[in-house]
Amino acid sequence: MLQNNYFMHINTQAPKLIAGPCAAESFKQLKETAIDLKNRGCNWFRAGVWKPRTRPGGFEGIGAPAIQWLMEICKETGMKVGCEVANYRQCKLAMDASLDFIWIGARTTSDPFAVQEIADCLMEDNNNTIVNPTVIIKNPSAVDYDLWLGAIERIYNAGITNIVACFRGFKTYNSKSKYRNEPIWDVLLRLRTEHPEIPVIVDPSHIAGSRELIPEIIEAAKYEYGIDNFMIESHCNPSEALTDAKQQFTPKDMFDMLDGFDDNVTIPEQEENLNPIPSLRDKIDEIDFKLVDLLYERMCVCKEIGKYKKEHGKVIYDGNRWNELLSKLLNHGIEISENDESLFYLINKIWSEIHSVSISEQMNVK
Ligand code: PEP
Ligand code: MN
Repeated sequence: MLQNNYFMHINTQAPKLIAGPCAAESFKQLKETAIDLKNRGCNWFRAGVWKPRTRPGGFEGIGAPAIQWLMEICKETGMKVGCEVANYRQCKLAMDASLDFIWIGARTTSDPFAVQEIADCLMEDNNNTIVNPTVIIKNPSAVDYDLWLGAIERIYNAGITNIVACFRGFKTYNSKSKYRNEPIWDVLLRLRTEHPEIPVIVDPSHIAGSRELIPEIIEAAKYEYGIDNFMIESHCNPSEALTDAKQQFTPKDMFDMLDGFDDNVTIPEQEENLNPIPSLRDKIDEIDFKLVDLLYERMCVCKEIGKYKKEHGKVIYDGNRWNELLSKLLNHGIEISENDESLFYLINKIWSEIHSVSISEQMNVK
């Protein structure tokens, strides 16, 4: 595991809300959407200029001229503006236009060559000008934590400090899923746990794939995972959108939806006094300390066995003993918990770790 604070110089703030259309389609569409969003309180405006299409034939974006439109929007509204970049050339055009932010899309994060090209471009730019854009790095399409972290490292190594990791779900081959991209929150939790210093934004639009499913993703992000920063697709006329029509909101509908979340729920003082969490956490601490003591005690016994095995030329790994022990533990777990599946899972997972560490400890006995 990489140590915490590995990204020492990272700016830990993510924008609260980035909104804008999936794709820039015309200057009129951009302007109408941007002004409406701005008037409702959104200060970060997104629009795809080059659209990565999984299959050819669809609308692939306006390209470079739409960068000019974004600059106009920035001038007229004062909003921060940004687009997706997928290679050196696109990044160079975005940087030459001094866009405030760029994002690296899910398909591009999957390709270390492309990410490195973008990093190289940002590094050149950083050496020559004072631009330090915000770079948003979406998780790769496949469930691959290391690719995501690797992309963040490449951009960080280019001297970019305004980095934001964007969670947009994963492509799976599960036709039963109601979501376009499965929100496998464990991957996000791992990033949060290993690198709490990296700010995170959630893209509920590309997770959900349809407007109706967006609120439940926002609810989970806010209340289950404590993330309150969102990038949401918004179009002045979603039904006419050339890409991702089903998942885009009008600015009004998006704000109505966001206003539906009541973040100002305050817990009355008497109830706060009854909050059981602090004393339950004390209990957890006590149990965890006991577990560490027991693990140490167990390790010492293992080493003694290891010594005997070494002195008497006995084989260290004993598969029968291991299988017997594991099934005794699982049976015991079933008994005390009345068949709690999560205990079953935990025993399996933890004891395979304990066992493999014990084996390597015994191998190392001098
Ligand atoms: C986008 O944000 O417009 C986009 C293409 O997203 P993703 O890379 O997450 O598919
Ligand atoms: Mn889109």
